[in-house]
Amino acid sequence: MRSLTNDSPYTFEEMEADIRMLESRYPEIVQVVVIGKSVEGRSLYAVKLGTGKAKVLLNGSHHAREWLTTYLLMDMVADYCRAWSEGDTIDGFNLNDILSKATIWFIPMVNPDGVTLVQKGLEATQKPEKVLQLNHNQNDFTEWKANIRGVDLNRQYPAGWETIKPVSDRPGPMNYKGPYPLSEPEAKAIYEFTKREGIQMAAAYHSSGEEIYWKYKIDGKLLAATFEIAQKLSEKTSYRLVDPGPEPSGGGYTDWFLTEMKKPAFTPEISPYIGPRPVPVENYPIIWKQNQAVGLLLAREACQLLDNF
Ligand SMILES: [Zn+2]
Repeated sequence: MRSLTNDSPYTFEEMEADIRMLESRYPEIVQVVVIGKSVEGRSLYAVKLGTGKAKVLLNGSHHAREWLTTYLLMDMVADYCRAWSEGDTIDGFNLNDILSKATIWFIPMVNPDGVTLVQKGLEATQKPEKVLQLNHNQNDFTEWKANIRGVDLNRQYPAGWETIKPVSDRPGPMNYKGPYPLSEPEAKAIYEFTKREGIQMAAAYHSSGEEIYWKYKIDGKLLAATFEIAQKLSEKTSYRLVDPGPEPSGGGYTDWFLTEMKKPAFTPEISPYIGPRPVPVENYPIIWKQNQAVGLLLAREACQLLDNF
């Protein structure tokens, strides 16, 4: 992975090239699947690492301006491949061992049209006039979170969708939940893939705040198991666990996974809080240290869960 600078963000095209490079360099361990297309026809990539029975999924960039989560996930893929081929360990995890017991799926960029808009502006979109209108005729797209049609992809999942707050009543840069759950091809593709693969544990990466959301309308055994893993994640990353209180908002991937898949899921928010904009790349070295082993930790936990849940 190349290192980042503030004037050269990590783009969809670059991710695509890196994915294909890793696939050809490590054919025994990497498999690439296109699970759908975005509104503007960009491929939604899922990268599979490993061959084991326990199945974990990490995804990033549901929200356009949060594209540093894509770079983080691609960095994990590349680093795990390297360590696997060298028979190396990362943070005490033996890659050969863990990738034979678990399969780690990565969907590094859920919202490629939105990410491209934030990084390259209107010229990169197919319907610039329409997008400009959605952005209240402002040419600055730094704050944009939604997909290219102005729907917030992390308010699209069928888990308390009717009562999501805060919410916008029309398409725009953020918070519009769409006309109905899974109306957008990006959210629908991730939803269907998760079910089809029978994913047993998930992390949906967002920014910012150094927090982990992990609780949404769960109780009993699932609450206990999820809390236990959340604590380990918190210890690893130093991120604070968030308790959303009695009326959590809903509609997010993690909310849906917890309530429908009935298995643990987490939303880590990388970087100290930086307000409504992309995380500055100078924050990345610490983010990497905090999160490098998260995919492996979840894989190990998923293996144990298979045994006892
Ligand atoms: Zn987000």
